[in-house]
Amino acid sequence: MTLGGTSTILTLPESTDVRLRNHLKELGLEGVTAVYRNLPVADLYEHAIRRNEGELGADGQLVVATGEHTGRSPKDKFFVREAGSEHHIDWGEANRPIDAAHFDALLERVSAYLSERDVYVMDTYVGADTRYRLPVRIVSEYAWHSLFARNLFLTPNEPPSDFTPQFTVIDAAEFSAEPTRDGTRSGTFILINFARKMVLIGGTRYAGEIKKSVFTIMNYLMPLRGVFPMHCGANEGADGDVAIFFGLSGTGKTTLSADSKRPLIGDDEHGWSADGVFNFEGGCYAKVIGLSQKAEPEIWSASHRFGCVLENVVVDPATRSLDLASESKTENTRSAYPVDFNPNVVPGLKAGHPANVIMLTADAFGVLPPIAKLSAPSKRCITSSRATRRRLPAPRRASSSRLPRSRPASARRSWCTIRRCTPSFWASASASTR
Ligand code: MN
Repeated sequence: MTLGGTSTILTLPESTDVRLRNHLKELGLEGVTAVYRNLPVADLYEHAIRRNEGELGADGQLVVATGEHTGRSPKDKFFVREAGSEHHIDWGEANRPIDAAHFDALLERVSAYLSERDVYVMDTYVGADTRYRLPVRIVSEYAWHSLFARNLFLTPNEPPSDFTPQFTVIDAAEFSAEPTRDGTRSGTFILINFARKMVLIGGTRYAGEIKKSVFTIMNYLMPLRGVFPMHCGANEGADGDVAIFFGLSGTGKTTLSADSKRPLIGDDEHGWSADGVFNFEGGCYAKVIGLSQKAEPEIWSASHRFGCVLENVVVDPATRSLDLASESKTENTRSAYPVDFNPNVVPGLKAGHPANVIMLTADAFGVLPPIAKLSAPSKRCITSSRATRRRLPAPRRASSSRLPRSRPASARRSWCTIRRCTPSFWASASASTR
């Protein structure tokens, strides 16, 4: 067996480097059958296909199906309540507590489960500004999750040999919790432990859980360092004017930030420091239902090449071409690719302060004008109302445009209420409308 290349298959215990071995031991993973660390894209493809995790698309994509969970499971996300972090967490419906003892016991069982298996390790960074970047190690039972992590985060081709993770995500997708024993809500769990600097995921294959839990870590850490974490897309004009796009899933952050005339900073997660805006991630996670080559050429191209991971996209069994219109698995079909699959990217994924802040809404009430320049009271209204927290399931898209559009009255009634924001309020509050 030759050593040295990052693609070398490392078999514990004798040939794994000491740092990794010690880290795995800390996690209770010293018994795993094999560790595949920082595999290049091609190796991860071979592993994923050999293990029946997915199939090749006609253009070289890795196409996977996530089964029962085709989106995130926010109700199954818990934070370990512990002295070091509990005063920084806004406990409530979104941030539910779990005991450290439950976490430790579940980790032990997850480790035992993984110890009978091969695991994939991907060493990545989060935070394009090196002053704030966080080294994160993703340990997964699926090869395709390792490829997803390689695509989505900032992954050097040759990770430094002294890579020291500040946070570790363990994703045992096929391991289910026992709620009565583990203190979880269901078999699915996303547990975040700031004391142990760990995320434990199980009971779901949806890779968005890996992405979102890493964002959650940044949302916790960045404000403590004077950086504002933002769920937004960002791009930069020719004059260095930065625009940021806030909005919930499906409102158009990825679509609008990918612009042939405005280089992309990132599609989804950014920090705003005293010096400007920087991407947390190194990849994009685009919704691709109804994706149109004409309307969104950058996302379309990125989703039709080798290296891209497609979740729950339907593939023609005969030709392997994509059926991007099909919702037979889910409406939330996803494409995960490195940001440089878009040819028009801001080098270093950081820029100055935003000149324009755009808030995208899924306006199920038809209350908002299509475009409004907000006055101070209308800004407060939209931020404080539930409009930015809840939305309808995305509309069925028949035509090429994937941007939100008005919905039928029956759909409007099922949406949340914006009690204070009546049409007359908007008429008076909007400084200028079109
Ligand atoms: Mn997002």
